[in-house]
Amino acid sequence: TSSSEALLRIGDRHVTKGIGRLTEAIITKGEGSYVTLHDGKRMLDFTCGIGVTSLGHCHPKVSKAAAEQCMSLVHGQVSIAYHAPYLQLIEKLLPVMPHPSLDSFFFWNSGSEAVEASIKMARLFTGRQNVIVMQGAYHGRTYGAMALTKSKTGYFDGTEPLMPGVFTMPFPYWHQLGLSPSTSEEELVNRSLYQLELLLVQQTAPSRTAAILIEPVLGEGGYVPAPPSFLKSLREIADRHDIMLIFDEVQCGFGRTGKYFASEYSGVRPDMMVIAKGIANGFPLSGVVTRKELNDRLKPGSMGGTYAGNAVACAAGVACADAMQEDHVLENANERSKELFSALKSLHESPAVGKHILDVRGLGLMVGVEFASPATLPYDIGYSADTPKSMASRVSRKCIDKGMYLLTTSIYEVVRFIPPLNISKEDMAKGCQIFAEAVEEVPV
Ligand code: PMP
Repeated sequence: TSSSEALLRIGDRHVTKGIGRLTEAIITKGEGSYVTLHDGKRMLDFTCGIGVTSLGHCHPKVSKAAAEQCMSLVHGQVSIAYHAPYLQLIEKLLPVMPHPSLDSFFFWNSGSEAVEASIKMARLFTGRQNVIVMQGAYHGRTYGAMALTKSKTGYFDGTEPLMPGVFTMPFPYWHQLGLSPSTSEEELVNRSLYQLELLLVQQTAPSRTAAILIEPVLGEGGYVPAPPSFLKSLREIADRHDIMLIFDEVQCGFGRTGKYFASEYSGVRPDMMVIAKGIANGFPLSGVVTRKELNDRLKPGSMGGTYAGNAVACAAGVACADAMQEDHVLENANERSKELFSALKSLHESPAVGKHILDVRGLGLMVGVEFASPATLPYDIGYSADTPKSMASRVSRKCIDKGMYLLTTSIYEVVRFIPPLNISKEDMAKGCQIFAEAVEEVPV
């Protein structure tokens, strides 16, 4: 086999330039909260491969279940016959759904595909075309999902025309409303809802609007939890007009926020929930969950896909659900979350670097730190697709130099913490230490 250097040369020359990459390295092994690189360097992984390996890399129970499934059945085609892991996974997920009415499952491979499936269903259920999404939303890379993504133009520039019928309203995040960072939550929610009401009067009549799609915690768009009152109002508005309310829990689901699903914080029941990422700890698996009355209206043959609900991925998903319970993962996530928040808050309050931090926010182990910069002034987001973010990118880079992967969000000066939910107290402390050093050392 070729040396790592030779492989990296292949990467440089032959891998699509369309993929942005944080580092030129080859990950050779993943174990719990760490990955090992080709040169032997061990990195603390506070990204979980963008919120996927929530139980840590190669969780023994998950890897074992997948390996065993590999020896009995890799590919079952659910359009031909069920395979047991598909049904066992549903059996495991039913009791953890945020609402008992969410009881009908369609499994897919990626988040994008599942988001698109939810839109397809919303159109079928309502007979209407249009979809309302949030400013800053990220729903994926495929054509439909790209049309629903509003976090930065770089994701779709030059690829238009996209799927028509998509309308955008502001998420209650001060940047998007041109308000100051100290604006009250109530005001943000009111302003955002006012824009929705306008949208329904001026641009997409309720009788044409199939769905409102929202991430209960805005992910790529800045790691901002939706206030519960906002989600409750969306529910009321959706009910008033028979619009489907769809929650994209691709990134915030499966314990990421300290509850199994982020919507539990508001108690709001969506008509459909999109799930992926943490569901199978790295095996490609996603899904749409809806309720029986809606599910019963789908015509056989209207949904499907070759790999949809792959047997190995579903077996991994079953093991993940077991591990979540057996290893008390939510309890750990909530304990570590307190430690993370307290470390970040003390950094925020420190005389030396506190002034560079504008906000520390999030739920559970989905936490964003927003830096103060010219970009935080109202009406000046200080960022274009061509200018690199300053503070957030440099802090992320510095953390990488110090042995920890830490991501930014798509725009704004935000870094995001997405460590494994079962991370140890020691590794959490180590990550917080590396971050504090990086913030102190990065020149402003
Ligand atoms: N929705 C959300 C909220 C996401 O965070 C992502 C991925 N970052 C997606 C959808 C798309 O998922 P995938 O990359 O698996 O297509």
